[in-house]
Amino acid sequence: MAMHPFTAVAQFLTTISLAIVGVAHAAPTITVPVRVHIVRDLVMPKEGLAMQSWVTEQQVRDVIVPEVNRIWRAADIAFRLDAVGPTSTRTPADFRERIDAVVTARRDIDGESDPERIRHLGELIGFASPDGGTVDVYLVPYLGEASQGNTKRSLRRVFVAQWTDKASKGRRAPERFQLNEPGAFVRGSLSRTVAHELGHVLGLRHPDKRDTVDGLLMGGRFPGYALTADELAKARRKAAKLASRQDDDVD
Ligand SMILES: [Zn+2]
Repeated sequence: MAMHPFTAVAQFLTTISLAIVGVAHAAPTITVPVRVHIVRDLVMPKEGLAMQSWVTEQQVRDVIVPEVNRIWRAADIAFRLDAVGPTSTRTPADFRERIDAVVTARRDIDGESDPERIRHLGELIGFASPDGGTVDVYLVPYLGEASQGNTKRSLRRVFVAQWTDKASKGRRAPERFQLNEPGAFVRGSLSRTVAHELGHVLGLRHPDKRDTVDGLLMGGRFPGYALTADELAKARRKAAKLASRQDDDVD
């Protein structure tokens, strides 16, 4: 599709202004604590695969968290990894049916994922007890058709999938999601999905696909990594609340 020259100029200016927002304000860094839980004992069968967690604790420390913080640096928000390790799983009598419900979850005609899959998943995971303003990120094998992440904002609980079929919209078998994606957005990455879901924890929503600049972390027609000035301000307000809740938690 040929781009109208004015559109190209407008996009260029938007990119510049987003970049300036990122470097010009000298706000103090807000630190938000995060715990990453790797759901190890869950096997999810689909299309001849037996999907299990494959991300290592070292990859969380050395790749995922640094990439998340690179993306969020524009907001002067830093996520501090307080803990990373395996989480326990539960085996209710109907655990196979629940796994099956997650694996076979489909997007509806509007592209919305089935919220029931998260309820089923919740019955299979032994969650950590909430801790102050800490965000809990659960790395699960798979989250259903074309789904890469989900956030329960009120509980500050994030799910991110390690296997994905989003690029093929579920037409091909899931594959391991790349850990990060250097350079421009093409397919996204597990690290970017964590950064996106943390945006939801910080109160951000998806932009309207009809009326948005391109290249945003929170989505749109052509997603990317940038945050708008409004999003930066909103996320900082929420991050400051989480950080202060941590201070209140002293006993
Ligand atoms: Zn989202």
